[in-house]
Amino acid sequence: MLQESSDRSAFQQAVSNRFGLVPNIFQSAPDAPELAQRLWDIARELYLDKPIPSLFKERLLVYLSRFCEVRYCIVRHCGFLIGFGHSSGDRLVQVESVAQAIKLLKTPTPWERDLNGVLLPLEAMSTPMDWPDPETDLEDCLFAAATVAFVEPLRSDRERAALRNALGGQRFEHLMGLLTFMHAVHYWTKIHPDLGFEDDVRQMLDQQEELARLLLEDREAARGEMGVRLLDELNLLRDLNERHELEKAKQALEERYHEVEMELAHVNRVTTMGQLAASISHEVTQPIAAAGTYAHAALRWLDAQPPDLEGVRQSLGGVVKATNQAADIIDRIRALIKKAPLRKDALEINEAILEIIALTRAEVVKNGISVQTQLAEGLPLVQGDRVQLQQVILNLIINAVEAMSGVSDGSRELLIGTGKDASGRVLVTVQDCGPGLNPESVDRLFDAFYTTKPGGMGMGLSICRSIVEAHEGRLWASRTAGPGATIQFTLPVGEATT
Ligand code: ADP
Repeated sequence: MLQESSDRSAFQQAVSNRFGLVPNIFQSAPDAPELAQRLWDIARELYLDKPIPSLFKERLLVYLSRFCEVRYCIVRHCGFLIGFGHSSGDRLVQVESVAQAIKLLKTPTPWERDLNGVLLPLEAMSTPMDWPDPETDLEDCLFAAATVAFVEPLRSDRERAALRNALGGQRFEHLMGLLTFMHAVHYWTKIHPDLGFEDDVRQMLDQQEELARLLLEDREAARGEMGVRLLDELNLLRDLNERHELEKAKQALEERYHEVEMELAHVNRVTTMGQLAASISHEVTQPIAAAGTYAHAALRWLDAQPPDLEGVRQSLGGVVKATNQAADIIDRIRALIKKAPLRKDALEINEAILEIIALTRAEVVKNGISVQTQLAEGLPLVQGDRVQLQQVILNLIINAVEAMSGVSDGSRELLIGTGKDASGRVLVTVQDCGPGLNPESVDRLFDAFYTTKPGGMGMGLSICRSIVEAHEGRLWASRTAGPGATIQFTLPVGEATT
């Protein structure tokens, strides 16, 4: 223990001897103090003892530290440069003025100037030069080329070649060693963000307003990370673009799918109505025949002596009622067959169901089926497209009729019910006594083109489900006790009935 702490104090003494103080960086990472000592070894090897003039080294380190987001290094090295501690650990070094430091910090970056102008003089040298004096053109050229090698090492072939040409191999490697040290130290400061400024440089920042502004607000600070960040951003952008394109394509497909589906829904509706044509024409001819009968009766009342005007009035009332009935049916058929854009109306589901029951009555009777209704009273209105929702009910009824028409024994009952589900949505149930749904096919019923009927299209249930889902409802087949199939759907509630 004693040995360790005396080692530490010897180390701090050595640091202090060189710099005139112990910079915080050599006291960081207290959990592994030996690492700070290794860092000091590296500093000596690559920075302090490098045979490069102290002022050149220190000025370059100030300059390069502009490109580190963490401000510890730039402040510390600038402090050394203007006499807070010793530049490059050299007690004999000449101290620079604040004005010189400011000028150095204001030098345009290589990216703000014509790089050719910087590189050509270095490339043109036929014999290696010696290290240049501070603030000379050659120092400026070397700094600019070294900065590119420092910030964008992988894109600095020309700059490194120019430096090597100008300095010769050995000086060039020493310079690269110094850049490596600086990178290591910058990295160290980034992963030790708790590293604070020393008191002496705090004082410097307090006293030197312009210098402090340049040191603390250098807009180049992020450039070191810029390459990486730009790449990240580019990738992100590319990703976004791809995602955007995909999203657009998906949307176009979905729109097209919806259009096709709507076409099919229409075709399905027309086909179903076609299947029902015989039954429906019967449904229409009935009131027309009734109207004829009433009309004849009216004539008879008129011919009576004296004419029975009350009889005529009643008969004509019958004519009006019967023709209205026929007109109603025709209107409903027309509405179901017409291609109309989707609407959202508040509608009473029971009324919509009763209309479809009326339309299919003849077909149901023809197949020896009896229809039972259990329509709950006082249901809230649902928001939706009347024609489309009626198409769903029509399809379910026709499927039930077809299922039961093949059953020879047992009762043929069709139960149509409405009510509310647990969450207050309107629930419609269509239950038959047909052969029912077998468990293997129950998942496939709602697939497009799945049919077990010789002339079936297999679109009915798939269309029903799309329509219900477009209304934000749900449609499913439920297993029921007893024979037959039960299909149910829910619809969200619009406004409540008053
Ligand atoms: P399609 O009626 O043209 O066959 P659907 O999509 O309406 O098309 O129905 C798909 C299949 O689902 C039918 O072929 C039938 O096998 C089955 N199915 C539908 N409704 C019933 C039902 N009520 N009872 C028994 N099976 C049914």
